Amino acid sequence: MHKKSDCIFCKIVDGTIPAPRVFENEQFICIKDIQPHAKTHLLIIPRDHIESLETAFPVQGPQQTELLGQMMEFGTRVARDSGLLPKGFRSVINTGADGGQTVFHLHLHILGGQALSGKLA
Ligand code: 5GP
Ligand code: ZN
Repeated sequence: MHKKSDCIFCKIVDGTIPAPRVFENEQFICIKDIQPHAKTHLLIIPRDHIESLETAFPVQGPQQTELLGQMMEFGTRVARDSGLLPKGFRSVINTGADGGQTVFHLHLHILGGQALSGKLA
């Protein structure tokens, strides 16, 4: 299915694929999206490989509640440090095929730097 060894974001995290880091901490890296949908379009990527929200919150097994909270906190810090506040920004997590997820390594989109339209995506 979605193997960790084939994962483009794992390769960016380990440096196999070069991508400049705008911010980083122990748990996350932040890079610019290669195909931006807004003037500012950043991706918050956990260093650990988790496929999606579906696998972060399985029916049975460990729930990644703390990591998800930390990802929202880091995303908000990044947005603030990027000058997106107080005007605002949009944070998006796509899950699965119908959700439009194309990279199966959990990530948070941070979009802003302009007034975004009312639609969700
Ligand atoms: P998704 O569609 O899974 O929610 O988001 C994946 C995002 O990753 C897309 O917006 C896409 O443009 C971005 N992306 C895919 N490959 C790369 C890459 O190699 N480098 C960077 N910086 N962004 C990428
Ligand atoms: Zn990965």
